[in-house]
Amino acid sequence: MQIHANHKEILNGKTTDIYFHRTEEILKKEKKNPDVTVEVWAKRFPDNYKWAIFTGLSESIELFKDKKIDIASLPEGSVFFEREPVLTIKGKYLDFAKFETPLLGYICQASGISTKATRCKIAAQNRTVLSFGARRMHPAITPVIDRYAYIGGIDGVSAVLSAKKLNLKPQGTIPHAVILIIGDTVKAALAYDKAVASGIPRIILVDTFGDEKIESLRLAEKLKDKLDAIRIDTPSSRRGDLPTIVRETREELNNRGFADVGIFVSGGLDEYSIKDLNPYSEGYGIGTSLSNAPTINFSLDIVEIEGKLVSKKGKVSGRKEIFECNRCGKRNITFTKNTKPRCDCGNEMNLLTKKVMEKGKLVGEIEAVDVIRNRVLRQLRFLNV
Ligand SMILES: [Zn+2]
Repeated sequence: MQIHANHKEILNGKTTDIYFHRTEEILKKEKKNPDVTVEVWAKRFPDNYKWAIFTGLSESIELFKDKKIDIASLPEGSVFFEREPVLTIKGKYLDFAKFETPLLGYICQASGISTKATRCKIAAQNRTVLSFGARRMHPAITPVIDRYAYIGGIDGVSAVLSAKKLNLKPQGTIPHAVILIIGDTVKAALAYDKAVASGIPRIILVDTFGDEKIESLRLAEKLKDKLDAIRIDTPSSRRGDLPTIVRETREELNNRGFADVGIFVSGGLDEYSIKDLNPYSEGYGIGTSLSNAPTINFSLDIVEIEGKLVSKKGKVSGRKEIFECNRCGKRNITFTKNTKPRCDCGNEMNLLTKKVMEKGKLVGEIEAVDVIRNRVLRQLRFLNV
């Protein structure tokens, strides 16, 4: 049974809220189809985020293909702030009214996941961060979640199809099931070493039966140089103080000559809990907090009709653009009609929004995943969580 919408249904407006179809009926009867400018912006970010990452553009732009519509936008993977108009659409209203629902759906979820991924990557500093959240969301969107997590700076993904689409090797160790069936952590590790190709890292779970520290030492003594790392995925009911468990394991491994054995941690982690584990861990698997990241709640609002300034309560009318000072980084939202603004520091400011579609034709190419991801990574050092 397939319930999820297919690509064609999305492009034909079949996932759209009914009130946009009613809007079309009303305006057609009234013979009204004005030239309209709309802005996409987020008034407020979730969880007191100070910034967010804008993604979902390449996927959503297809909605507007061949529709006589002009679109300008921040480049995908850009940092943006509350109240900034990240995307502007201009055209006959009936040519795009029904795409508001899917457009927002694409960018709200994509930007939410990418933003969370970037936050986790910043919190982990230079440590490895992997996306382990496939099991928490509908499988039809597994590659979607992992694409936006990867763009946000995550180093790898566990799901096979996601990895294939991103041209990565899927990352993972062994589940508790193997250890339970074989009956012992060390025996399971030896079986893993025997069965799995030699280039694949030997990273073994240590929390199935016994104490994390004791199991880690048993493994290290038995597998010696073959053991690359251990993974701690202790259930929440047994955690007490997870950073202390990880620290004790780390110190004990170091003291017994196993400083080369890394420690990976997974299970209920987010950008806050990562920070406490950093001194003792070399990487993290992030699940639910990433795949179920809070969405960035963009809205789409009319700001001009037939060139006249119009807007609803709570929204400033007129087409605006985002400028940034290339010396001090200060940003400014200003009306397009004004000349290039000058920064308080005396420097000129650069326009950040770019034309991405003209009369339904793409301006330039759809950007590759790594181009978008590198844009995110270049901005990392200016951000914090
Ligand atoms: Zn400046």
